[in-house]
Amino acid sequence: MIIDLAKELEKLSAKGERRRLFEVEERQGPRIRVKGRWYLNLSSNDYLGLAAKVPWDELWREIEVLGFGSGASRLMSGNHRLYGILEERLAALYGRSALVFGSGFLANVGIISSLVGRKDVIFADKLVHASLIDGMRLSGADFFRYPHQDLEALARLLLQKRNHYRRALIVTESVFSMDGDLTDLRTLVELKKSYEALLLVDEAHAIGVFGDQGLGLSEELGLLKEIDILIGTFGKALGSYGAFVITFKELREYLINRARSFIFTTALPAVVVAASLWGLSKAVSMKSERRYLRELSKRLRKELKKGPFTILGELDSGSPIVPVVVGENEKALALAEGLKALGYWVTPVRPPTVPRGTARLRLSLSAEMTWDDLAPLVNYLVNES
Ligand SMILES: *Cc1c(COP(=O)(O)O)cnc(C)c1O
Repeated sequence: MIIDLAKELEKLSAKGERRRLFEVEERQGPRIRVKGRWYLNLSSNDYLGLAAKVPWDELWREIEVLGFGSGASRLMSGNHRLYGILEERLAALYGRSALVFGSGFLANVGIISSLVGRKDVIFADKLVHASLIDGMRLSGADFFRYPHQDLEALARLLLQKRNHYRRALIVTESVFSMDGDLTDLRTLVELKKSYEALLLVDEAHAIGVFGDQGLGLSEELGLLKEIDILIGTFGKALGSYGAFVITFKELREYLINRARSFIFTTALPAVVVAASLWGLSKAVSMKSERRYLRELSKRLRKELKKGPFTILGELDSGSPIVPVVVGENEKALALAEGLKALGYWVTPVRPPTVPRGTARLRLSLSAEMTWDDLAPLVNYLVNES
C-alpha cells in the first residue's frame, strides 16, 4: 500500500478516538432501535420531536408535480417553486432577506469564503463549528480565535488588529453545539458596531428552541435586526434537512452570484423543502413545548450538579444541550456503556470534536421526553458512577 491507513486507524483506536457507524433500525418519538433494543435517544438535535411527525402523505403530492430529485443546481433549473415559498416565509418572519442552502455545512463554508478574502480579517470563538472553521480557512482571510466566550479578549483583538484590514467579520454560535452555553449577543452587537465589523451568528441549535416564535436567541434578545448574517438549519429542531441565511438584500444577491457551495450543488428535492416549510410553520407556534423543554433542561442541570461531574452551561439557561464533562476518553466510553445498559443512547463526544481531557457525554433533550424518562439516568450519573 502506498499509504498506511490501517496504522493511522490503529492509533485512533489506541487513544480511544476511533469512531464507528451504527445502524438505527427504527425510530419512535424520542426512541431509537439499535440491534433489536430500544433506547431513549439523547444524541439527537430533534429538540421539538418534529422529525417523526412530518405528514408525508400530504407532502408527497409535491413529487407528482415536481418529481423527487431536483435534477440541477438552483441557478440551472433546480429552483422549484417551494424555494420561493420557503424564502418568502422566512423573510416575513425575520423581517429580512432569506436564502436557502443545501445544508448548514454548505451555508457556512460558502458564505464565509465568498464574503471575506485576503485583505480581510475574521475573529472567531475558539469553539465554533467545523463548518465555520473550514469556511474561514477557505476564505484566505487572516483569522484570530479568542478563548471561548471571552468577549474582553475579542475586544482587545479588535482594538489591535481591526484597522489593518478591509472587512472584518466576527463569527460565533448563539447556542454552542458542544458546550450548550449561550452567547452574550448584546455585547457582540456593541462590539461589531464600534469596530465596523460584520457579525455572523450560527443559530443551528437555537432555531425552534429560543425566541417567542422559535426564531433563535437573537429573537429572544430582541436583536434580529442587528445580526448581519444569521444562519439557521432545518435539520435540527425543525425536523427536516437544509439550512438558511437571514441577511440584508445585497448580501443575498451577492451569495447567489459568489457562494460556490450555493452555485455548484444540486438543489434540494422539492419534498424536502416542503418538509422544511412544514417544520418551520409548526415550530413557530410551539410555545408551550419550548417552555417545557426549558424547564426540563433546568431541572436536569440542577439534579446533575449534585453529582461528581462538571455540567456546562448556566443553570437556568434552558439550553437543550446538557454536557456532562467527565475528562478522559475511557471514562466517557465506560459511562456511555453504563447508560446504554440502562436504555439510554448517549454518544460520547471525544477529541478532536472537543479539546483533549474534556471528553463528555452530551445530553440532548427533546420536548417529547418526560422527567420519568430521565430519572434513572440522573440517578446513575449522580450516585453510581
Ligand atoms: C449542525 C451544525 C451545522 C451544520 O448544519 P447541517 O445542516 O447539519 O449541515 C452548522 N453549524 C452548527 C453550529 C451546527 O451545530
